[in-house]
Amino acid sequence: MTMTLTKSDPVKTLARPLEGKTALVTGSTSGIGLGIAEALAEAGATIVLNGLGDAQAIETTRTELADRHAVSAHFHGADLSKPEAVEEMIRFAQDEAGGVDILVNNAGIQYVAPIEEFPTVKWDAILAINLSSAFHTIRAVVAEMKAKGYGRIVNVASAHGLVASPFKSAYVAAKHGVVGLTKVVALESAESGVTCNAICPGYVWTPLVEKQIEDQAKAHGISREKVISDVLLKSQPNKQFATVEEIGALAVFLSSPAGASITGTALPVDGGWTAH
Ligand code: NAD
Repeated sequence: MTMTLTKSDPVKTLARPLEGKTALVTGSTSGIGLGIAEALAEAGATIVLNGLGDAQAIETTRTELADRHAVSAHFHGADLSKPEAVEEMIRFAQDEAGGVDILVNNAGIQYVAPIEEFPTVKWDAILAINLSSAFHTIRAVVAEMKAKGYGRIVNVASAHGLVASPFKSAYVAAKHGVVGLTKVVALESAESGVTCNAICPGYVWTPLVEKQIEDQAKAHGISREKVISDVLLKSQPNKQFATVEEIGALAVFLSSPAGASITGTALPVDGGWTAH
């Protein structure tokens, strides 16, 4: 057997490995999702943003991201708790942005309460947004990815997809579910050029965590600093928040040709938390 190595443009290969690909990132109007969208755009991908928020602020985010990285950027405001809205968003990505080569299921919400006081509506919303929406998006795009022979699915789970903490029954259940879903999709698509992985961040400083700091400070009657050191970063051995840029860089790596053999994994980015 002979093999030919062809040299491609080194700048394109190294600096813009995702040129020609389209990435849909759910929950990318804020926090980790926006960080991932920035990193994928920097790597050359066309971006479809999704999320909730002020329409004018989202439009500014969209145009600035497109200009900064010289890529096309689109936005669809699907409420991911509604399966029919998810389907509409996928159709939009296919019709307006050229399909979904890279799917990042990132949108998520949190609610913290002991299980006996956990509101049923919060359980339903967390399961719908943090877990079921990933089922609906994957279900809608994976056949097209398989047909193309290339696809990257990155699910943003959590350290709470691997271990538990009290008072987060819905969140921990949903994130463990995301890790399980990741493994099944990886196995089902293993021979087709499609990979599916979960990123499992520990604490990353975003609006979602900021709200937890405020809530816990009120609930325990302690300062913000004490919540950060004694509650949040207690389990995170390096005592640092992870950054959205670190999560974005990992999503780019998984999406690039270099990530071709990584599938079915749950990758902690947690400063050692799950090494305990
Ligand atoms: P965030 O609150 O900053 O962002 C959440 C995003 O999801 C926003 O864009 C929001 O508009 C969107 N969203 C929420 N509900 C939605 C809905 N119904 N439909 C569409 N979009 C919706 O939160 P974040 O901290 O960036 O979290 C992003 C993901 O990372 C979540 O899945 C979260 O569980 C996970 N995560 C976060 C941390 C952390 O420490 N921040 C740690 C582990 C995992």
